[in-house]
Amino acid sequence: MRIDLHTHSTASDGTDTPAELVRNAAAAGLDVVALTDHDTTRGYPEAIDALPEGLTLVTGAELSCRYDGISMHMLAYLFDPEQPDLLAERELVRDDRVPRAHAMIAKLRELGVPITWEQVARIAGNGSVGRPHIASALVDLGVVDSVSDAFTPEWLADGGRAYVQKHETDPFEAIRLVKAAGGVTVFAHPAAVKRGRTVPESAIADLAAAGLDGIEVDHMDHDPATRARLRGLASELGLLATGSSDYHGSRKTCVLGEYTTDPEVYGEITRRATGAFPVPGTGGRRSA
Ligand code: AMP
Ligand code: ZN
Ligand code: FE
Ligand code: FE
Repeated sequence: MRIDLHTHSTASDGTDTPAELVRNAAAAGLDVVALTDHDTTRGYPEAIDALPEGLTLVTGAELSCRYDGISMHMLAYLFDPEQPDLLAERELVRDDRVPRAHAMIAKLRELGVPITWEQVARIAGNGSVGRPHIASALVDLGVVDSVSDAFTPEWLADGGRAYVQKHETDPFEAIRLVKAAGGVTVFAHPAAVKRGRTVPESAIADLAAAGLDGIEVDHMDHDPATRARLRGLASELGLLATGSSDYHGSRKTCVLGEYTTDPEVYGEITRRATGAFPVPGTGGRRSA
């Protein structure tokens, strides 16, 4: 079984539509794929409609959180997407991305970059607007060579010249909300140092004590030594250890299934979840 539990579609800052994403996941030989767009579940219906036979969809989201001033991401799986408290929090974060993008564009214009909201809105389409969309606009304008080159202190990195904070959820509150909605939480790329400050191990222990289910260990932003350390930490704290691609289509270099999750860990996630069931692909025979 090949299981990839972290991917993005055009519902946030990926470049595959949800339908393309599930077709590409099947073509990549995956048996299970999780759709984890930033702060939204908007991609679910299209992904479910297009789900190829033999591929199972795990519904999820990647929630924007902040711990002690440090931005961090919480993967949430198989929660009830209608649960009102979690829905309200997701909408709060997602909606705040719009004025925040306007503010980052204003900063870039003050820095002499002729970027416009219309340009960024065209790139973002219906997706939760974020820095990767602005980064794509900067590539189009010839300001930087690649999306990742825009994530520097000069431009969009945390605390960078054109960076603006968005509303982000307290991670303890996120764990509580996801649990109340029947879901499972996994701290995404907890040691991705290239993204800026990371939370200390003591905080991961506190989150574990508060009900965190797992941490993402195998991820492109973790080197082998970091993965070994995180795997040890997970076993010490009784946390599940996952692995995933964090696929963003052509906006990032990683490919679907580049890292995967152990089937036993996946089984445990599905046993713990009560908010939603994984959706088995029927290849379009969903009429019954
Ligand atoms: P936002 O949610 O708008 O603050 O943007 C954060 C997103 O930008 C993350 O989810 C990543 O997809 C992307 N990102 C963050 N840091 C980097 C980086 N150093 N290089 C490329 N993409 C990044
Ligand atoms: Zn992203
Ligand atoms: Fe993330
Ligand atoms: Fe992600």
